Amino acid sequence: MSMNEPAMPLKNSFLEEVIKESKVDIRACYQCQKCSAGCPVVSAMDILPNQVIRQIQYGRREKVLTSGSIWICASCHTCSVRCPNDIDFAKVMDSLRHLALHSGMNAGEKEIPVFHKAFLDSIKSAGRIHELSLILRFKLKTRNFLKDAGLGWQMFRRGKIKVLPQSFTGGKEVKEIFNAYEKGATR
Ligand code: SF4
Ligand code: SF4
Repeated sequence: MSMNEPAMPLKNSFLEEVIKESKVDIRACYQCQKCSAGCPVVSAMDILPNQVIRQIQYGRREKVLTSGSIWICASCHTCSVRCPNDIDFAKVMDSLRHLALHSGMNAGEKEIPVFHKAFLDSIKSAGRIHELSLILRFKLKTRNFLKDAGLGWQMFRRGKIKVLPQSFTGGKEVKEIFNAYEKGATR
C-alpha cells in the first residue's frame, strides 16, 4: 500500500456492509500481510488478501466486488489461521462472493462465479452434490460444451460421474438451511 494513501476513514457504508454480512470485524487489521504471505493462490490474484481488506476500509466497493481475487480464493482458511488478530479472512472472502453475485456488477472472473452458483444450486435442489447435473448447469450457462469433454468422458467411464443422484434423506434440512440463510442475508 502506498505511503501516500489518505488516512483511513473511521467508517464507510461498504465497510459496514462487509462486517454485517461476514460478522468479521476487519477494522482490527494492521496490515502485517501474514494472510497474503501464506495464501497458496496469491500469485493468481489481482488484489492481495491484505489489500482487499485495505480497499474495504477505504470503501472501494466496486474495485473489490469486481476483482478476480474473490473468485480465485480457494477457501483454504490459511489466512484465517495465520492472522495474529484472529480475523477470519476466508469468511470475509465468502461474504464478498455473495455480495458480488447480488451486486449486478461484472465479475473479475467469468467462469468461476457461474460454477460457484451452479454448485450451490445443485446442492440446494438435491441436498448433496450430483456431478452430472452440476456439469450440465455449468455447461448450459457457459455454452462451452466441448471444453473438458474428454476428461468428463473418462470420469464417466470410471464411474466417477453418476447418471442419477444418490439417495439422500437430509434434503429437506439442507433446503431449510439455504432458505434461512437467504432470509437472513436479505434482512
Ligand atoms: S494477517 Fe490479519 S492483521 Fe495481518 S494483514 Fe492479514 S488480516 Fe490484516
Ligand atoms: S482462504 Fe482464500 S485468501 Fe485465504 S489463504 Fe486460502 S485461498 Fe488465500
